[in-house]
Amino acid sequence: MIIIDGKKVSASVKEKVKSECEALKAQGIIPGLAVILVGDDPASRVYVNNKKKACEYVGFRSEEFALPATTTQEELLALVDELNNRDDINGILCQLPLPKGLDENAVIEAISPVKDVDAFHKQNVGRIMIGDYDFLPCTPAGIMEMLHAYDISVDGKKCVVIGRSNIVGKPMGMLLLHENGTVTICHSHTKNLSEITSDADILVAAIGKAKFVTADMVKDGAVVIDVGMNRDENKKLCGDVDFENVKDKCSYITPVPGGVGPMTIATLMKNTLKAAKLQNGID
Ligand code: NAP
Repeated sequence: MIIIDGKKVSASVKEKVKSECEALKAQGIIPGLAVILVGDDPASRVYVNNKKKACEYVGFRSEEFALPATTTQEELLALVDELNNRDDINGILCQLPLPKGLDENAVIEAISPVKDVDAFHKQNVGRIMIGDYDFLPCTPAGIMEMLHAYDISVDGKKCVVIGRSNIVGKPMGMLLLHENGTVTICHSHTKNLSEITSDADILVAAIGKAKFVTADMVKDGAVVIDVGMNRDENKKLCGDVDFENVKDKCSYITPVPGGVGPMTIATLMKNTLKAAKLQNGID
């Protein structure tokens, strides 16, 4: 059993982005990322801080817009509009979830598709479907990068994704399909879930329920990717997979923390670099 080291793979991705950023700087271009945070959700604050730290490391400019939970839809859309029109901002992300009363979809659709480094805009989602894209969604693309780094081939494999969210489950299924996996996407209405998961060569858990995937749900020798970020009964960070009991059945498994999370941020850096290049006519 090999524990996939997301920190190590993400460090090499960020190193590459850093050196490309230096080359851009020599041409007078400094990639800029705007991060919008509305309200005071502690988990969102941690994610935003980590994204800012990564920007600093690779040499991007990052600007944070921390707005109160009382922000109106109009105020938020006005900020997005202003950022869409700023030449020194190449990427815009709005940390989700938004406080109640704000329309996430409207905000996602307001972000210019060329600055949509999360790849959530429907134009970018559509382009992913047909395999003609500039940006891939950060978490699924980070997972693919990890599989590549460990020479894990998807071709012809039975891939099962638990979860069908727009930001993880659905695009994950699509990226596995692009690499010739035979993909099944499960959700809360799926019947006989364990039967399906225990047939998977590659199992991706993106559910949001602590230690949901137990050893009896996993095939011997499977590759298990854990997207979940939950707190266990002792408030300790844990994934959707019961790591301690599942790990010995796997050929490869990702830990939480130190697995998918760092890859998500590394892919965000890749996307922001790409946005800066595209907006400057490079690539
Ligand atoms: P989400 O929008 O809440 O989606 C959860 C999915 O799990 C839904 O499709 C839901 O099915 C399915 N589900 C719930 N209970 C189930 C059950 N009993 N059996 C089968 N399927 C079930 O969550 P998300 O945004 O995709 O995130 C999933 C997890 O990943 C969360 O823990 C989140 O914090 C984490 N996450 C981590 C990263 C990272 O970088 N590491 C990035 C994004 C998200 P229905 O559609 O039928 O409701």
